[in-house]
Amino acid sequence: MSSATDEQAKRELMVALAASLYARGFSVGSAGNISVRLDEGYLITPTNSSFGRLQPAQISRLDARFVHVGGDKPSKEVFMHRAFYAARPDCGAVVHLHSTMATAVSCLADSDHEQPILPLTPYFVMRIGRKLPLLPYFRPGDPAMEPAIAAAAKDARAVLLANHGPVVCGRTLTDAVYAAEELEEAAKLHLLLRAARPRPLQAAEVADLLATFA
Ligand SMILES: [Zn+2]
Repeated sequence: MSSATDEQAKRELMVALAASLYARGFSVGSAGNISVRLDEGYLITPTNSSFGRLQPAQISRLDARFVHVGGDKPSKEVFMHRAFYAARPDCGAVVHLHSTMATAVSCLADSDHEQPILPLTPYFVMRIGRKLPLLPYFRPGDPAMEPAIAAAAKDARAVLLANHGPVVCGRTLTDAVYAAEELEEAAKLHLLLRAARPRPLQAAEVADLLATFA
């Protein structure tokens, strides 16, 4: 596939996936942003754009150094995406949401910063892996957020930002979106079972999943 065809296909897929997330309430207003790696550079959703009304041509194009070179002005949260691409060569796309359940977990005062969501189902482990660090609160735009995300992303495919929401990477755009959706469902189960006594997957069960599916 030529790079122009590949880029056009990624623009169209980003519009379709964003619209699907919006239709199901994973993103409201202009919250959240999605990016994907190209042969040379990146595409990212524009600042103040709604997932429900994106147009392929409007999506921001960045060069390999994250300089804006085409389309509308990029999301102000572009540095979260840059942190993941810098930390992980396997990262082909990044999804950041303010989705309700994952954000609710990020607001709990007693969340475990190493493991804020228990591994309750195999699908969470298969999509997110063993680690989901909960990072401290950063004011939006705080430059300290980028190195903190990059350090955590070295051995995690997703992070939760306290009082803000998840940032999730995947090998492809579809993988990253599916992982963000699975994280939201896992957060919902975690919250539903907070007053109960769930049986999380045991360390050996998690290791077996990662050895079989990762
Ligand atoms: Zn955000």
